[in-house]
Amino acid sequence: MIVHEILRNIFGFDHFRGVQEQVVKRVMAGKDSLAVMPTGAGKSLCYQLPALAREGTAIVISPLIALMHDQIRATEGLGIRAASLTSADSDRETTIARLRNGELDLLYVAPERATTEHFRRLVEQLPIALIAIDEAHCVSEWGHDFRPDYRQLRPLLDAHGDVPRLALTATADRRTRADILTQLGIPEDGLVVTGFDRPNIRYHVRPRDGIGGQLKQLLAGQPGAGIVYAPSRDKAEKLAEGMAGSGRPALAYHAGLDPAVRKRNQAAFVSSEEMVMASTVAFGMGIDKPDVRFVAHAGIPKSIEAYYQETGRAGRDGEPAEAWLFWGAEDFARARQGIETEVEPARQQGERERLNALAAFVEAATCRRAILLRHFGEDPPAQCGNCDNCLEPPATIDATEVARKLLSTAFRTEMRFGVAHLSAVMAGDDNEKVRGFGHDRLSVFGIATPDEIALVRPVARALIARDALRADAYGGLSFGPAAKPILKGEETVTIAVPPPRKKSRRRDTGG
Ligand code: ADP
Ligand code: ZN
Repeated sequence: MIVHEILRNIFGFDHFRGVQEQVVKRVMAGKDSLAVMPTGAGKSLCYQLPALAREGTAIVISPLIALMHDQIRATEGLGIRAASLTSADSDRETTIARLRNGELDLLYVAPERATTEHFRRLVEQLPIALIAIDEAHCVSEWGHDFRPDYRQLRPLLDAHGDVPRLALTATADRRTRADILTQLGIPEDGLVVTGFDRPNIRYHVRPRDGIGGQLKQLLAGQPGAGIVYAPSRDKAEKLAEGMAGSGRPALAYHAGLDPAVRKRNQAAFVSSEEMVMASTVAFGMGIDKPDVRFVAHAGIPKSIEAYYQETGRAGRDGEPAEAWLFWGAEDFARARQGIETEVEPARQQGERERLNALAAFVEAATCRRAILLRHFGEDPPAQCGNCDNCLEPPATIDATEVARKLLSTAFRTEMRFGVAHLSAVMAGDDNEKVRGFGHDRLSVFGIATPDEIALVRPVARALIARDALRADAYGGLSFGPAAKPILKGEETVTIAVPPPRKKSRRRDTGG
């Protein structure tokens, strides 16, 4: 078959990888498809190969000019005829002439150009091999990177109704995927999803409890190079200092550093086999270091997609690697506040749901990998045997009663106190603050047994994560929308039995 010859002779590969063959076959048969494949799975080949095997030019819609130019350089190296039409290209006239003369296998176009009447007329009479829509999640308001231009692609696609369309993305949850299919007019059975499992990565999720100490402990048993993602530049610097202080080479990387320093730190990391880079999320995107042995998060990532991308930088060499996530209830509180204050109203609901999915992941007592893979639309086995919950299944307890008591106490104390005070009231602590507010006279004073008191902090954490409680800037807790169903007995609260607590600092939000 001709596609195998092209695969071997032009691309130099002996075999297709994963679902590539399935996708290529669909395109060759003229069918419309949405391919959801993780980064590095080889999406480009899925449209580049049919571009050569089919008659005419393939139009590739791609949102990033830099990305297009990389692709063109790579394909030209293989002898493929490719060009782009963007505001950054000065040779647009030449490109248009080549296009008209049938001298292009691939034409990369930015969405703002592809959606113009002018472009539609330009390609109207030309033989088109296929239309590829790269980074297709940009079409969906549910996606994390919505671009309105993507919404206007339909006239171009529909003007070439018999040309196969191929949408591609690495990051699409169920809803975003459904939206892509609808928006681009691709039938449901055109969805091809695969390959999100990274079996060599072992996932661990822990409540944060003195992150400096937790990292120190982690490093003690963890050789190899690693990345620690920090929620802020300051934090990245502090964590790097702390880790260096305990004897491990460690540097910081963030956008606030001098470019020369950043470049130097990155080079040092890439060539080291033991260095830890404490960084903000910017780090790791462009770097090629297959032997990163672990990725740790000192605070929650933006979403499950982001978590998957960031942890995916570990173990690219296929050797065992570790992913650690240390989360605090305050991370969720802050993220929820951010959604209310910084996200435009139309997108808030999507952001909330993304955060809820992440909360369910960190709180889960079941297989982490199964949750991740289901999120990406796969149908994994219930247990992977290579995550914290599979290796040491946590005992769980029904903490619904404690949750109800905590919610009632927050309510009776007018929803402005933090977990330490609420816990004191529930325990019946006759302390000065409790008496000062007259909380010793409330019906909830002394409502909980000592066993229940031991669960108040983990329960508060779980309630904040699932938006039953909301923390203000001072840790004061008030009801979120998920509080009512718990109080009404419609929802239960199950938590993992907390590990015995070290005697340490008290923190109000229980982070
Ligand atoms: P994506 O766009 O999905 O992130 P790319 O298309 O950039 O991935 O491909 C990632 C890498 O995999 C590239 O270096 C590419 O050459 C390589 N690759 C793609 N398909 C195959 C294959 N069938 N066999 C071996 N390597 C492949
Ligand atoms: Zn598992």
